[in-house]
Amino acid sequence: MTRKLLVATHNPGKVKEYRQILADLPVEVTWLDEEGITLEVPETGASFEENAILKAETYARLSGLLTWADDSGLEVDALGGWPGVASARHAGAQASDMDRVQILLQRMADVPDEKRTAVFRCVVAVAAPGDGAIFTASGSSAGVIARKPSGSHGFGYDPVFFVPKYGKTYAELTPEQKHALSHRGRAARRARVLLKRYLEQLEG
Ligand code: IMP
Repeated sequence: MTRKLLVATHNPGKVKEYRQILADLPVEVTWLDEEGITLEVPETGASFEENAILKAETYARLSGLLTWADDSGLEVDALGGWPGVASARHAGAQASDMDRVQILLQRMADVPDEKRTAVFRCVVAVAAPGDGAIFTASGSSAGVIARKPSGSHGFGYDPVFFVPKYGKTYAELTPEQKHALSHRGRAARRARVLLKRYLEQLEG
């Protein structure tokens, strides 16, 4: 039996990526815009996991659908893990991705090359409306904050997230290359395994 799976995002790029990852599961992926859901869940949690669970449970209750939500962000070692859960909003609601990148670069102006390490983290939470089932999976990817932006793919901090193994920033990798090693790709592939198991259990 095919079930609807609500991916709790307004971002069509994320929907496309998750559709690909979930292609062989018996789910029909839908998303907030397709369901006409406009409610924004404030990300008030203290961790990526809390925020992902909050979003998955809230949208599952609202929609009555099995719901997949994620939360992610960047943790910079030299800044004590900042911006972390504030990655999307540390410069205020009106700021652009490039504003946030510039603030990060300014804060790191005096940080030497060997101390510019950082980690992207992502947690995916899946919530079921009927039986209250909830499970999470996380993924991370390590890199170094470059001194200036390079590349035009991706979003957010991609132009300054440099991966030494590839000699490129995330914004210089193709989307496929990025997903193969990204925090979101890793968390999603792990969550997919848990979702597959959950669906098999439902089928008995
Ligand atoms: P969200 O999980 O989509 O709310 O993302 C939180 C914020 O973390 C984004 O707005 C970006 O600033 C940052 N972020 C998360 N994942 C990535 C990524 O893959 N590349 C660049 N920035 C990211």
